[in-house]
Amino acid sequence: MKSTLTKHLDALAKLHGEPKLQTVRDPFELILKENVAYLVSDERRAEAFKALKARVGVKPERILAAPQDVLLEIAQLGGMLPKGRVDKLKQAAELAVEQGGDLRAILKEPLAKARRVLKKFLGVGDPGAEKILLFSHTHPFLALESNGLRVLLRLGYGSEKGAYAKQYKSAQEAAGKEIEEACAPRMRAHLLLRLHGQTLCKRSAPECGACPLSKSCPYAAAGG
Ligand code: SF4
Repeated sequence: MKSTLTKHLDALAKLHGEPKLQTVRDPFELILKENVAYLVSDERRAEAFKALKARVGVKPERILAAPQDVLLEIAQLGGMLPKGRVDKLKQAAELAVEQGGDLRAILKEPLAKARRVLKKFLGVGDPGAEKILLFSHTHPFLALESNGLRVLLRLGYGSEKGAYAKQYKSAQEAAGKEIEEACAPRMRAHLLLRLHGQTLCKRSAPECGACPLSKSCPYAAAGG
């Protein structure tokens, strides 16, 4: 029998469309994809990443050898603060080389060590490390970003008490009980919750009237 959360996710898939599970699985490529763009649509991020792949390549040594102006042009495709993102791409490449050049080897290490190494990369905290471990099909964490976390909390999974990390853990634990412990369904959950938080269940003024979950949403029942 389907859990309540799985039914919610099915309703969101009906509303927003079934998300495409991304094909990038390599941990270093996942880090590059995060850093090549900033605050842009998924399409624009994909475009910037595609340009990086085609013009430079996605191996650490190729990034380090690439001319600065080429990296800058690519970063400009990915939105604001391009120079800072070029620096981040180079720092990520330097760190990957320090780790032996192939981060896939790190993912074969015990989970705690893999997480510790991933967190050395700029901008990768616990949620980011869990996302890489999930999307590289290494470990089925129910990784969440801020939009997805907000949706789950409003739906009554976890508690808003305490700091972000505490809220994250509580929502992850509560929701994790209702989603099969496997990478594909948890990637789907991550993507659907994120999209719902970006479009209808926005931080201020969520559009509950247009949401298929409104009848069973405690936040909507309380008047938002
Ligand atoms: S009913 Fe409103 S608060 Fe609840 S999930 Fe939908 S948009 Fe978010």
